[in-house]
Amino acid sequence: MEMATKAVDSTVHLCYKESLIDLAHIRPASKCREEGCAGLVNLKDKSVGSALYFDWVCEKGHNNGTWCSQPVFRRGLHAGDLLTSAAILFSGNNYQKVQLMTKFMKLPIVSQASFLKIQRSYLVPAIEEKWKEHLAHRIQTIKDSSGEVVISGDGRMDSPGHCAQYCTYTAMENSTKEILSVVTVDKRETGKSSVWMEKEGFLRTLQFFLDEHILVKEVITDAHPSITAVLRNEHPSITHSYDIWHAAKNLAKKIMKASQKKQCGLLRQWCSHIVNHFYHISGESSSVEEFTDLWFGVLHHVVDEHEWAVGRGRCSHGPLSGEHIEWMKKGSPAHDALRVIIADRRFLKNIPYFLNARSTADLEGFNSLITMYAGKRFAYRPPVYRARNLLAALDHNEHLNRESMTNKDGNVRMAKTFNKKSNRWSVRELKVQKKYGHIDGLLKKVFCIRAADKVGMSMPVVLQESDPRRISSTIAPVLPPPKDVLIQEHKSRLSK
Ligand SMILES: [Zn+2]
Ligand SMILES: [Zn+2]
Repeated sequence: MEMATKAVDSTVHLCYKESLIDLAHIRPASKCREEGCAGLVNLKDKSVGSALYFDWVCEKGHNNGTWCSQPVFRRGLHAGDLLTSAAILFSGNNYQKVQLMTKFMKLPIVSQASFLKIQRSYLVPAIEEKWKEHLAHRIQTIKDSSGEVVISGDGRMDSPGHCAQYCTYTAMENSTKEILSVVTVDKRETGKSSVWMEKEGFLRTLQFFLDEHILVKEVITDAHPSITAVLRNEHPSITHSYDIWHAAKNLAKKIMKASQKKQCGLLRQWCSHIVNHFYHISGESSSVEEFTDLWFGVLHHVVDEHEWAVGRGRCSHGPLSGEHIEWMKKGSPAHDALRVIIADRRFLKNIPYFLNARSTADLEGFNSLITMYAGKRFAYRPPVYRARNLLAALDHNEHLNRESMTNKDGNVRMAKTFNKKSNRWSVRELKVQKKYGHIDGLLKKVFCIRAADKVGMSMPVVLQESDPRRISSTIAPVLPPPKDVLIQEHKSRLSK
């Protein structure tokens, strides 16, 4: 334990071997301490994993002392190997890339085989344990207050379309923006179909809250049809809201497409105003009727008609002054095209989902954080993939309340940002750099798990009960034929 603390708290330096040899030679060459030998003692060095060893050996081979550049745990595991492995995973890196970098530096590191063993035996369990503790704390806080949550949920595929092996379904608490649940679904768990992964992830997410006895009051998602159906049919008491940014982007797309029709060019100028109107009334309306009323009001407003006979019967803006967009002519092709969009039945049917003016934009941000920890171009085993997603969640929750960066004059620094879903530019506050305060705790956990390990890390792997590799060894729709059969096929193809 003490050694673990020492190994975590100590700094690590890049040392050239020549410099260390110089250091070792500060002590003048001595005579062998073996009785009756008195041979000259020489310095010998050897590299083991990331560690450097010096042996003081006399001409006749008597050992006069050994020095290692790192703390060594029981059964010869070097702290540096454990630390490097942990640092590679915890920083979202990839073994091969780091190994290539250190190869160029001529810096020996832990071997890939040892890295994989360390990852499996100590790193993944440490992350799981840390997440469990973190979550237990969050859950208790919620139970101590209202016991209910509004969550936004979204599924992220590890690669596009049918190639996806994993879907990560994340639930974020809407007011605190804390990640409360991370579910990773493997394609093998949904009959090797990527289409069902998001729904499966969502169902498990709901089950998680049910098991924790936390009431889910409202769920905010994209307009995902199968999730909409689940909530409507099986959980009618949960309010379901759609991300209005996404809806606004679709609306803008429809208007821009219509503006390409003959004599409809004017729609292009009106587009952003209509989209803003949509945002505005999503937040203002408290009922479907009110929303519908204000929504259809657009058709009056664009033809310079600000009072009319039915419903609410007038625009909510004050007197119009200064420049405005060219009014449309009532019944013109542009006005008719807009009427088709405004009165679109699919859109009108979705109005109940817009009334709370909710957004999943913060969850989008979290999804890009997952990409930092689990790059889309790499393949991971299920427990490692899950652990990498949990690392993203721990990182996110750790840094939720970061302070804003300020200029010399005390103003908050802002940066331009583009949201792909809504196709809109906006600004966001720049935050101070992340401190990653949770990583030391995680490292200590790794060292403690290792210290408590009685069997070592070279035991054969036993897959956990829930491991998708128990269902099938690959995600391909058919199992692979034996390799020698494939080699024969390859050869006969070449000879043709
Ligand atoms: Zn000797
Ligand atoms: Zn008006």
